[in-house]
Amino acid sequence: MSGHPRERTAGRLGQPNLVPRAGLAERVGYHSPQIDVDVRLNSNESPVPAPSGWSRSYAKALRTADLHRYPDRRATELRQRLATHHGVRPEQVFVANGSNEVLLTLLLAYGGPGRRAALFEPTYAMHSRIAALAGTEVIDGGCNRDFTIDFDALPTADITFLCSPNNPTGTLHPVELARAALGASALVVVDEAYAEFADAADEGSALTLVDDDTPLVVTRTFSKTWALAGVRLGYLIGPVWLVQTLWQTVLPYHLSTPAQVAGVLALDYADAMHERVATIAAERARVVAALEALPITTWPSAANFILIRPQTVTGEAVWRSLVSHSVLVRNCASWPKLDGCLRVTIGTPDENNRFLDALRASL
Ligand SMILES: *Cc1c(COP(=O)(O)O)cnc(C)c1O
Repeated sequence: MSGHPRERTAGRLGQPNLVPRAGLAERVGYHSPQIDVDVRLNSNESPVPAPSGWSRSYAKALRTADLHRYPDRRATELRQRLATHHGVRPEQVFVANGSNEVLLTLLLAYGGPGRRAALFEPTYAMHSRIAALAGTEVIDGGCNRDFTIDFDALPTADITFLCSPNNPTGTLHPVELARAALGASALVVVDEAYAEFADAADEGSALTLVDDDTPLVVTRTFSKTWALAGVRLGYLIGPVWLVQTLWQTVLPYHLSTPAQVAGVLALDYADAMHERVATIAAERARVVAALEALPITTWPSAANFILIRPQTVTGEAVWRSLVSHSVLVRNCASWPKLDGCLRVTIGTPDENNRFLDALRASL
């Protein structure tokens, strides 16, 4: 490590010819800033942990788990429990380290060079990021001013991503949109990370479309409604033949025994999950009502967050002011079509009050 500092920078630690493969360098990473604040409303996590009964049984199970052995490669028990939870067959369920890894596995199997993925911005940034990582061309089908998507102008693609409720807008798309997308795309992926937060979550879900004759999958996650973001566990429900292909694609033993056990035990607490979700939905209604009294534009949300746009001050200024009050929300100002917008996660009643007070002081 000698020489002029400028040379060192140019020489990239002595490996001047080693650059990432084409398509990676120009893509910025996906980073939600993690600033140390009192009130964290920026990542749509559960504001409260999973039930203490879950923590106790998880700790107990880990003490006796055979961690000197590889995990069950097909996560048999977890898939059986998920199948029961959703009223499907275990062969229709694929599990991985967060729904992000589910999506990556899908794109490795069905995307890649020469194939096109369609999505509708603004949406979850990881869809385009993961598609591009796998070498897939990404096209934006766009959306209406109110963030709905037109059924009759869907782009043709190999893979179409829908997100319902959509992150970051909160928009709940009708199941008919997924059905229409099947006419334009070889595969339709419906990301339902927030499904349980929507009213009439069961009828509104694209799970009603899943069968072996339909090239459509639904992804879900333990990160939001199940309050287990730290575990990294997500899953997909889809046709049996597609799930088999995903098992051939993913690395062996990808899902650790602790993650599998965490998911199995979480499913014992489904009632607690639904109660937590109902509490958050009630808080969402309270926060929306409070925002209506302020010079703020909001959009209807079926998820555990709300997209807002201050009318009198820039979003950037409000974001900074909130941070100075030790409240962190997501600054969406640089996302497509979201000039001046912020996304705020619904927290505990206390956290939401802290947010509302800080927001009033910031306007
Ligand atoms: C948070 C979120 C996820 C969760 O991803 P994990 O890898 O399961 O944590 C997936 N999709 C959307 C749209 C999200 O907002």
